[in-house]
Amino acid sequence: MGPATNSYEQIEELIANGANGIRLNFSHGSHSERDTQIKWIRDASSKLGKPVAILQDLQGPKIRLGNLQHDVEVNTGDELLLQYQGTHHDNVIPIQYNLVDKVQVGQPLFIFDGKIRTKVLEVFDQTVKVRVEAGGTLMSRKGLNLPDTDFGGDILTDKDMDDIDYGIHQDIDYVALSFVQKAEDISGLREILKTKGSTAKIIAKIETKSAIEDTELERIIKECDGVMAARGDLAVEAGAEVVPIVQRKIIGLARTYGKLSIVATQMMASMVDNPEPTRAEVSDVALAAILGADTVMLSDETANGDYPIEATQAMKKVIKYTQEQMPVTPVFYRDDARGKKDAISAAAVTLAQQLEVSAIIAQTKSGATAASIAAHRPSLPIISVTTVPRVAQQLALLYANKSFLVQDDSEAGLHLAQKLNEDRNYFGEGEHTIVLVSGQQVGVSGGTDTIQVRNLG
Ligand code: PGA
Ligand code: MN
Repeated sequence: MGPATNSYEQIEELIANGANGIRLNFSHGSHSERDTQIKWIRDASSKLGKPVAILQDLQGPKIRLGNLQHDVEVNTGDELLLQYQGTHHDNVIPIQYNLVDKVQVGQPLFIFDGKIRTKVLEVFDQTVKVRVEAGGTLMSRKGLNLPDTDFGGDILTDKDMDDIDYGIHQDIDYVALSFVQKAEDISGLREILKTKGSTAKIIAKIETKSAIEDTELERIIKECDGVMAARGDLAVEAGAEVVPIVQRKIIGLARTYGKLSIVATQMMASMVDNPEPTRAEVSDVALAAILGADTVMLSDETANGDYPIEATQAMKKVIKYTQEQMPVTPVFYRDDARGKKDAISAAAVTLAQQLEVSAIIAQTKSGATAASIAAHRPSLPIISVTTVPRVAQQLALLYANKSFLVQDDSEAGLHLAQKLNEDRNYFGEGEHTIVLVSGQQVGVSGGTDTIQVRNLG
């Protein structure tokens, strides 16, 4: 969400029209604005009876220019002094991060989504001197990209730590970390969240060259709970041509290890200004669904665009049609990576598909059972039933999942399915059978031990 959707009514409309999660981009906005937005999201979600995930997106080392007195035209050959804590005058441009110990002479430094390209000439005091190699217009607060700079495991800024401290006292389901370079960035954040008592899961945003080198991507995906193909910055850092292949690898590895996958940025970009998506955008969203991504994300379209609700509806329409017409591809699938815990889910999915049931119902305490069922990408709705709000909210982003929050009841899954079946719009007219996966020991997480086939009549 962003300025274009910054009201209770807009949030409610987004959720009613298909949004399963809302990202709060901590690159912008204040904590007091966040308080209001989180309340709007939770109020709208409970009014609609639809659990949604809130994702706190940490800025990470997304270095930005400071405030400029006016826009600055720069040309090839110009030299700029990028100064931490500096103020704008002549060719002195303030930046919000001290790069001096990180950046090295000769490294590329891009500004404003890669539009302005520079090379580092000299590093001194709090200043990085660069030469412009491709010109353009500098504006206040535009972002920097440093594709060859190693942050040495030090990617959490003071601002991030402050935002983490804010987030642990809020109703936040996922923390996304920007510009992850290695798996240790994720384990480091996990340690911090654990110490502070957070129940949020961690999403690794893949948007640097280091994250996609050699085996690092696989290490990162094993370490995180979810992974985002952050195509905007990834294209700037590694080249746009790299993005489609990396997207396939990300979704494939996420499926192999049973982790959440999100495809983000420019999915319906033309809808910032137009009420209809382009053919290419429709194709892009459909492809993400066919590859088996759990989630597709809108950013500018709903944050700053003129058609936020239309973009959400258009995206939902494409996903729905695609999933009805075509099963998810078995790309990159490796069946042995999820271990023993996967056995019951694998059996439930096989059973459900052969019996052509109407849905798989997962009665789940920690969410793990629903997640491992989803990892098989059955062409069936997955209905997860839980007593824990956090779990219902986290599962809301999962492939083909619909979360329901229920009271404690050993037969909660069956009771819910019966109730849904009474409303003939839910499964449709006719006889319906479901596969129900649950644990006999009520309230024990990880105790899934029972598969039932139940006729709903
Ligand atoms: P951002 O991340 O929107 O926070 O920059 C996503 C991306 O880079 O694609
Ligand atoms: Mn990004």
